[in-house]
Amino acid sequence: MSIFNYREQPGYFKRMKDAFQVTAQDINHQLSRLTGTAESPITEEQIEDLEETLLGADMGVQTTEHLLGKIREATAGDRFITRQQVKRLIRRELLQILGESEGPLDRALSRKDLSVVFVVGVNGVGKTTTIGKLARLYQGEGKKVLFSASDTFRAAAVEQLEIWGERTQSPVIKQSPGADPAAVLFDAIAAGRARAADIVIVDTAGRIHTKSNLMQELEKMSRVASREIEDGPHEVFLVLDATTGQNGLVQAREFLRSSGVTGLIVTKLDGTAKGGILIAIARELHIPIRYIGVGEKVEDLLVFDPEAYIDTLLQIGDQDR
Ligand code: GDP
Repeated sequence: MSIFNYREQPGYFKRMKDAFQVTAQDINHQLSRLTGTAESPITEEQIEDLEETLLGADMGVQTTEHLLGKIREATAGDRFITRQQVKRLIRRELLQILGESEGPLDRALSRKDLSVVFVVGVNGVGKTTTIGKLARLYQGEGKKVLFSASDTFRAAAVEQLEIWGERTQSPVIKQSPGADPAAVLFDAIAAGRARAADIVIVDTAGRIHTKSNLMQELEKMSRVASREIEDGPHEVFLVLDATTGQNGLVQAREFLRSSGVTGLIVTKLDGTAKGGILIAIARELHIPIRYIGVGEKVEDLLVFDPEAYIDTLLQIGDQDR
């Protein structure tokens, strides 16, 4: 999949549909129960049923209440609106929330010189897998990728990264366990230059029990990146696990406070009934969602497109907009 024309590729919408199938089914099942004719206008009871479904999809209380308020407004005073109009109304409101989410294209791709991409997040969210997927995506754009094993805290982290290094044929720059993560980064940047690589993807530690150390460590790495390369780090992607709901949002705020996050990557969206979480994330964190993880394989990373996402959730086709 090319990052630049992902929408034109036939597989993109199909893969979005597959990933959000359960959530879309739940929402549309409920929407299909809205009557919305002159003889039988939408009732308060129907609106309340919709509330349960939107909350169940993890869209968040604020967004759900906002949407219901808009529907109530539109149906007030015995005015009748159709199911199609309700869908369009929801689409418009959700697009407004996600609008901010449409960030600039991955900066690591628009540079000619070596770029540095940090990948941060709590252990277990899918960070290492995402690094492998990102490498594959970048390679698809003709970029030469190299990994910096800067989670020196866990020996297993380096081993995991090496597995993804092999899978994607990306060299891994490492030191012994316990080494200074910033020193590994320094080496990786030097190696990147020496080998004429395009992008250094940096794995970072994700232990939360020593949070302040972790944040200091990330800040130190940022300083090294900016000292060694103009405008570095070029992207700092925070990886969030879609299945952790509100907990994930709390963790995210910790990272946002100190690590200069430029974009979010939300993983494990495949098969979940909670696919509305992206709306809650966008609404609460105000950081663009850049990619989404829709499976465990190396190709299971999609560019996040707010419009395609909303249309998938609401099962809206070209003719319905
Ligand atoms: P890390 O500790 O953050 O580096 O997490 P890992 O990359 O080791 O991933 C933790 C688990 O999540 C592994 O079993 C991965 O296969 C799984 N995983 C990662 N991303 C996705 C995804 O998008 N979908 C699914 N279903 N599983 C994922």
